[in-house]
Amino acid sequence: MLNKIMSSNKVKFSKEYLVVAQNASGRNLNVPVYRFVSSIPGPKVYIQSSIHGAEVQGNAVLLHILKALQSADLRGEITLVPNCNPVGSNLKSGEYTLGRFDPVNGQNWNRAYHYNEGLISEFAKKINANDSIDVIKREYRQKLTTSIEKRLENEWGLGLAECLNLKLQLMALQADIVLDLHNGPVSTRHIYVPEYAKKSAKYFNIPHVILIPNKFSGALDEATFCPWWSLSDSLQKRFPDSKWDFGIEAFTVEMGSQEVIDIDAGKVDADGILAYLSYKNYFEVPLEQPKNMTRQAVYLKDYKIMYSRLGGMVEYVAKPGQRINKGEVMARVLNIDELEGEGAVTSVNAPCDLIPILHFPSASVLGGTQIYKCFTNYFEI
Ligand SMILES: [Zn+2]
Repeated sequence: MLNKIMSSNKVKFSKEYLVVAQNASGRNLNVPVYRFVSSIPGPKVYIQSSIHGAEVQGNAVLLHILKALQSADLRGEITLVPNCNPVGSNLKSGEYTLGRFDPVNGQNWNRAYHYNEGLISEFAKKINANDSIDVIKREYRQKLTTSIEKRLENEWGLGLAECLNLKLQLMALQADIVLDLHNGPVSTRHIYVPEYAKKSAKYFNIPHVILIPNKFSGALDEATFCPWWSLSDSLQKRFPDSKWDFGIEAFTVEMGSQEVIDIDAGKVDADGILAYLSYKNYFEVPLEQPKNMTRQAVYLKDYKIMYSRLGGMVEYVAKPGQRINKGEVMARVLNIDELEGEGAVTSVNAPCDLIPILHFPSASVLGGTQIYKCFTNYFEI
């Protein structure tokens, strides 16, 4: 049921609530869905935040985007879903939010989206060289939608994370542009970009870019672009004389550290997204320009995890975003069982030139803990 709050001649604004889960008291858990629909045709955009419940900065970003949209000349449609996981954001242990996994079964809240590889190859076979991109898009979207709806109706039921993911995915699937807003543990800002959309990375005001291949691992960005990328590749092989570009782009945007809301920084983050949407012709007059800044990129294979060899108390010397040369100290591990000897403090050195992007949020670590994720073999784009 749409609850219309305000609208102009050209743009209709609405807010509705979508039931995504039910708690043990039998109460529905809703998420708000804010939507702007312009009478002028244009791209469809979908943005959600906080599928990982501790990663809250995206909600501040959506606040600023929503404010900016109220006075902008829009084209197409935009759907904003803040705090899209009402289960994850309410699971606390002491001072911390247990937002990344369902504690009942360990399921990552961002790994249960739907991907139907068989459907893609089946559909691709039926396309002819002269079929229009618009018709293909409409029919393919319908097939993908039906496939998710069928999964949701599974008579054996679905896990909580999958059910939540699929309900959100049904909205994301209707969009040409999908942004999933996250945070790292202690992290600098970075963005996951499908390799084919590398050009778009220059429009976000985000200094670190991870270029990812056409591989589905369960996340929303992959669930959005993999079906289109695969379809496009398959058609390109069969009909090399035509250009099979469906104009679908999806990104995971990591807006700094989890458990942090910075409302002023959210404006800067929002401006970057608005610059990207301006480049995508979402506004009649561009709203924002991208910042002139240095952007470093890596291919996913060069985004390396560093594990702690030792257990102990870790001082994180290398800060997220800081360039570190091979051999420089990244961390120091304090061993409380060796305080009287040489082994009291052990340095962890950089195995090559790198940029740490994020580190583990706690000082006390067991041996084998992922302490850093780092850019190696990085290059400017
Ligand atoms: Zn996340």
